[in-house]
Amino acid sequence: MGEEISNKQVILSNYVKSSLKESDMSLRTSKIQLKIPSGCDGAVLVKNLYLSCDPYIIQSMRKRNVYIPSFKLDSPISGFGVSKVLDSSHPNFKTGELVWGITGWEEYSLIKDADTLFKVPDRDLPLSYYTGILGMPGMTAYVGFFEFCSPKKGETMFVSAASGAVGQLVGQLAKTAGCYVVGSAGSKEKVDLLKNKLGFDEAFNYKEEKDYDATLKRYFPDGIDIYFENVGGKMLEAALSNMRHYGRVAVCGMISQYSLEQPDGVHNLLYLLSKRIRMEGYIVSDHYHLYPKFLEMVVPLIKEEKITYLENIAEGIESAPGALVGLYFGRSVGKQVVAVARE
Ligand code: NAP
Repeated sequence: MGEEISNKQVILSNYVKSSLKESDMSLRTSKIQLKIPSGCDGAVLVKNLYLSCDPYIIQSMRKRNVYIPSFKLDSPISGFGVSKVLDSSHPNFKTGELVWGITGWEEYSLIKDADTLFKVPDRDLPLSYYTGILGMPGMTAYVGFFEFCSPKKGETMFVSAASGAVGQLVGQLAKTAGCYVVGSAGSKEKVDLLKNKLGFDEAFNYKEEKDYDATLKRYFPDGIDIYFENVGGKMLEAALSNMRHYGRVAVCGMISQYSLEQPDGVHNLLYLLSKRIRMEGYIVSDHYHLYPKFLEMVVPLIKEEKITYLENIAEGIESAPGALVGLYFGRSVGKQVVAVARE
């Protein structure tokens, strides 16, 4: 029998109807054995070190949602995290190893299907990076840009939610590919960081703009070749109006729509036809086979300080509900992470 210890968890208390509130979650302390129970072949028992606040999580907090299974009420929610293996019945993972992937929002988790986990390949960089630039969001940026945008040197690119985990890397990859890059974000501080720290050519605060169509015309007088779509709604409509012929729209996400009971309509899809635009959605998990190739490119760029990464770390599992809610209001600057424990 393993040692039984207390395990603080973030529980889903109510299914979310429109915007997420902290009161939709609660904290509970339960008990867990620090040993894999018999009959759980292929499982790992982990201590969670970092949890990742990701926009898709709200979808699983709804009773019905578009593309992922809903969480169970009164159970811990789950998401991406970085964890240390305490016990393993999976042939690929050993006690003491560090992994990233889907885990529970709790201090310790029994992950029954450890096939979905990745080993942390490089200990030289901060472990929290595996919730962001070196984990799922980083892969999303890489796959979206190189597999779906067909970039060419000299092309113009617009990135929305540009200071987020995905947007900040997409913009920097586009700069390395020789594109002219403009980002949108929700505060002056974020706009300054995009221009002065992340190397975007231009950036604007969408909350201060009344007419997105006019705004994009100001930044792209000759039109947009690539729109990296993270927000949807009115911004998508304005981007379509400003696309050039044969432009590409990589549909990565639509965060402005995730808290709406009734999604916005997009009224100018006819531009897809008249301007011969290619607009294509993708889900990063279909492309995880590219992870080694992605690391080969991105790790040296980080180590040589050719790309910058912004993250905001909230301390303690108690801070997790507030950190997650903040995401949908743009409260954090950079990738929002929750530090649960040190190694
Ligand atoms: P993130 O780091 O959490 O950043 C999200 C940012 O979105 C917030 O900081 C906020 O910044 C902005 N935002 C929030 N509400 C908004 C609204 N109503 N309108 C405009 N901006 C809003 O997110 P991320 O991880 O970079 O994800 C970016 C997008 O990629 C999301 O749509 C996400 O769902 C999507 N995604 C897709 C995949 C995939 O497989 N396709 C994988 C990962 C992520 P501001 O201050 O700028 O408002």
